[in-house]
Amino acid sequence: IDYNYLSQNATTIQKNMLNRNYGKVDMKQFNELNQTRLVLYNQLISLRSKRNELSLATKQAARDEKLVFIEQGKQVKSNIKQCEEQLKLTESQLLEQGLSIPNNTHPLSPIGSEEKANIIKIVGTPRSDKDLLDHVAIATKLNIIDFEQAAVATGSSFYYLQGMGAFLELALVQYAMHKAASRGFLSVLTPDIVRTNLAYGCGFQPKSGESSQIYDISTKTTDSYDIQLCLAGTAEIPLAGKFALKLLNEDDLPQKVVGFGHAFRTEAGGRGVTTKGLYRVHQFSKVELFAVTTPDQSEDMMDEIRELQEDIFTELGLCFRILDMPTEELGASAYRKFDMEAWMPGRKSWGEISSTSNCTDYQSRRLSIRYRPKYQTDQNTRFCHTLNGTAIAVPRIIISILETFQQPDGSVEVPQVLRKWLPGEPSHLRP
Ligand code: AMP
Repeated sequence: IDYNYLSQNATTIQKNMLNRNYGKVDMKQFNELNQTRLVLYNQLISLRSKRNELSLATKQAARDEKLVFIEQGKQVKSNIKQCEEQLKLTESQLLEQGLSIPNNTHPLSPIGSEEKANIIKIVGTPRSDKDLLDHVAIATKLNIIDFEQAAVATGSSFYYLQGMGAFLELALVQYAMHKAASRGFLSVLTPDIVRTNLAYGCGFQPKSGESSQIYDISTKTTDSYDIQLCLAGTAEIPLAGKFALKLLNEDDLPQKVVGFGHAFRTEAGGRGVTTKGLYRVHQFSKVELFAVTTPDQSEDMMDEIRELQEDIFTELGLCFRILDMPTEELGASAYRKFDMEAWMPGRKSWGEISSTSNCTDYQSRRLSIRYRPKYQTDQNTRFCHTLNGTAIAVPRIIISILETFQQPDGSVEVPQVLRKWLPGEPSHLRP
């Protein structure tokens, strides 16, 4: 985290935090802490050089003079220790505050809460014929989801997909993975358990108590090392981890990966009609797009990811809209965010099916993802930009498909692009 940058731009940062309704850092206090850090740092440098001088003087001094230098050296050593401790404490306070400062915001992002989102495109026409069923009623007729036994096995907000329901998930995953691979994304199967620090580095808050959306599964091993682990809330986290601590060459950028993994979310908050069935669950499968770029490439990459998502949802035949998300919806890491919402005729509302964020250097600073510029006048490396976007969040796409393609006879038409991945290549799922 660039403390000096944050300090020097305190007014802008404070305003940005206010716009995003995120982070409670007092920038005045942050500034003071940073000043203390700089003073301590300079003190430490001069103390260390003093120690070196004294050690040289001790070596060169005549025997009877050595004792004086040794005594002075002891004093300097003790000052160094004190200074190091103070610096460590100041840096940890700064880090804690710095971590809760969100990314900067794109100048075109609308300011405010959800309803301020800019609708930038609508594809298709919302289906509005009468007597359309919701996905729970359709799935019950088709016998493809079992909520009851999932509640017995685990609890509410879990589900079994079964029969064609199970194949539908696999078909969606296959389709999206192939589609992304055809656009140059490297296919990856990700670990579902990640280091807690990795989640922090991506802008999530695994240890924020009851409001945390992340399942903390920290354990102690037999040799009593603390292993700080959590369940991945999204494959974005392990995909970012694939690049953590890496120094890349500019020629190797951009790097594009597509990961299939499971997302686990505590979903602290209530369940109501709008979150019925598959809409808000604790575990779901997701195909996630992730890219690492140079700063110059990230805006184009955001467009590339968005075009791929648009293609996927268009080929699936969904009616959807694209939103430029306002400041209060950007979370910690996004500089700019585009959400896509599908029309879910049974729910009679738009429901979010994907989210794409340009995180600029927010994650790469925290995870140390850097590159060496091709043409450079200095020896410095630069931080990369990272981006992530949902290709398929399986449950919400199942909702959209079931509700959009339901037929009066109780069957559901299968989108053409999925048929080849289903047993028997059916045109319809039938009760
Ligand atoms: P996010 O990583 O929070 O941007 O979520 C990515 C996508 O996953 C969202 O656009 C939703 O389509 C879907 N999603 C998020 N949370 C849930 C949930 N609890 N249950 C089902 N789908 C979800």
